Amino acid sequence: MIKSLLIANRGEIACRIIRTARAMGIRTIAVATEADRGWLHWREADEAEFIGEGPAPDSYLSGRAIIEAARKHGADAIHPGYGFLSENADFAQACADAGIVFVGPSPEAIRSMGSKAGAKALMEKAGVPVVPGYHGERQQPDFLRQKAYEIGYPVMIKAVSGGGGRGMRIVNKAIEFDDQLNSARREAKSAFSDDRVLIEKYLANPRHIEVQVFGDSHGNVVHLFERDCSVQRRHQKVIEEAPAPDLPEAVRDAMGAAAVSAARAVGYCGAGTVEFIADGSTLADTGEFYFMEMNTRLQVEHPVTEMITGLDLVEWQLRVAAGEPLPKSQGQLGLRGHAIEARIYAEDPAADFRPAMGRLWAVGFPADPSVRVDTGVAEGAVVSPFYDSMLAKVIVHRPDRAAAIADLKSALVRIRIAGVGTNIGFLSAILDADAFSAGRMDTGFVDRNIDRLAGRRPARSLAALAVRERTHRLQAGGPGINGPWGDYSGFEIGGLGRSVVSDIAIDGEPARATLTWIDGKLDILIDDEPLAGIAGEAQLVWGGDKAFVLAAGGQLAVGFPSPVDKASVALGGDGHVKAPMHGRVASVRVGTGDSVARGDLLFTLEAMKMEHSIRAPLDGTVEQVLIAEDQQVDDGATALVIGPANAEQPAGG
Ligand code: ADP
Repeated sequence: MIKSLLIANRGEIACRIIRTARAMGIRTIAVATEADRGWLHWREADEAEFIGEGPAPDSYLSGRAIIEAARKHGADAIHPGYGFLSENADFAQACADAGIVFVGPSPEAIRSMGSKAGAKALMEKAGVPVVPGYHGERQQPDFLRQKAYEIGYPVMIKAVSGGGGRGMRIVNKAIEFDDQLNSARREAKSAFSDDRVLIEKYLANPRHIEVQVFGDSHGNVVHLFERDCSVQRRHQKVIEEAPAPDLPEAVRDAMGAAAVSAARAVGYCGAGTVEFIADGSTLADTGEFYFMEMNTRLQVEHPVTEMITGLDLVEWQLRVAAGEPLPKSQGQLGLRGHAIEARIYAEDPAADFRPAMGRLWAVGFPADPSVRVDTGVAEGAVVSPFYDSMLAKVIVHRPDRAAAIADLKSALVRIRIAGVGTNIGFLSAILDADAFSAGRMDTGFVDRNIDRLAGRRPARSLAALAVRERTHRLQAGGPGINGPWGDYSGFEIGGLGRSVVSDIAIDGEPARATLTWIDGKLDILIDDEPLAGIAGEAQLVWGGDKAFVLAAGGQLAVGFPSPVDKASVALGGDGHVKAPMHGRVASVRVGTGDSVARGDLLFTLEAMKMEHSIRAPLDGTVEQVLIAEDQQVDDGATALVIGPANAEQPAGG
């Protein structure tokens, strides 16, 4: 039996593991960084060790620091959670060498599934169907391009060591192949220190269906049914459910059996997930599905499986790690009802899901026993640039899918998060989509409908709520405020009534508030627009020097710049292209003097472990390039300056 457990992770998954360990009477030890001081995991554990400032390589990814902490606190076992060191075979080995139980499979099993190419070869041998493609050793661009041609476009390039949707590119035409190959390689190199790739047929209407498996050290392997994870953005899951909608019983059984064969092929012990992909338009008829990869760890979306099976998968993991046999056999496992999980991310869906950062001034989830919320954040926590930007998971379980969707929708609107923008409006829009309620989702759905799905945001005119409250506060007479307009940097306009025009900022962009007093009543226009109707549903949270208006599952950050920092509000549009976040310049695609059209790729930035494309905001000529490849840039730093398109070129030489 394990008596003490170090959790080598952070956020919601660390809290979730601590909860089960505590219920089993196990002493828990958390690790944390200074950047995570405001997060919950280290406070919820019995003991905590701070192992770094922020950057993951020196903290949550440092096997040495973690094993040292485990030794110091006398931990018998280490649970790696997901991400970070969870699929690192060397770390699993280092734990074993230190006499500490690694809660996960053997280093050999991790290694054989760690390479997407190796895993595919192994599965082919075990008789599990794999996606047609090339997963051999040869990596010359010409050779790979030839393979792509033979497989037939569209194809997918995948990093052999990839994960989390990184190092993966869809290529529709031969002409795009080289560019996409280079881009996938660069991302793979920096994320996984391995730039080898494989090429696969890109399936039409792809549905991602995965099977939870479990093995023990006594040779037992079972599956715990499937999860449908077809709702994805940038190849990353956002909504997951169990069971998969409309999956014929025979296909469910066949997938379960294939997943068990896959696990047996590597002598699997512990929790794992076998991911399959299928063409959603023909799956029910042909029953054809293909092995994609196996994740040798607990998945983010494991709660939906827990809900439909009534089991605690972390408890199973800890029992199996302690050498116990699986608590149940296949025949004792059944599924009941329908569960759906939505992942709440700090990000801006309308800006290509750019991660959002900053301090959380308000954090509130529905306190409803029928809604499961797995989270690790609290008010005051800072969402830093160092880690994945997931804040929480909201999970519901009902007798049928329609009821589960309705419950999840109502849970989402009751979430209150201020200070950092989230994807809640986007998630609600997905749940409202007809294709989703009909269970007709494929992995391209979000991308195809992104404008409609990401468009749900609070009306800008709601900023008036913040302007009104601030005006009332100022009029009530705060310290150092003179006159009725307080410190408004505005000017009065003559004429009817008394009007003041004040510069404000909405989400960092300049806006104009016009305040008019008529018969003692204050009327406010934002950029000449009156307040939109749903003001009653909006909430206002003050934090730092801003007000956050929460509505429609999103927020407006309303700032009141003083005249001095007005300049800093003028973002984009003026030809100054700024880095949208802190990161490393992965590639620079233009040079001084190049003419660019709006939307052209200017440079790529690697941040939050992903590569982001920065495109031209307007047509013009590149006047200055202030960045270089490999350089670190700060959030908001000017990277390039674009001048007018028809600027006269200097004559001569
Ligand atoms: P990662 O390990 O980075 O998550 P996966 O191999 O699991 O990468 O693939 C992630 C997602 O990419 C899948 O869920 C699916 O949406 C899409 N995908 C992967 N391979 C294919 C393919 N051959 N055809 C169509 N879509 C694919």
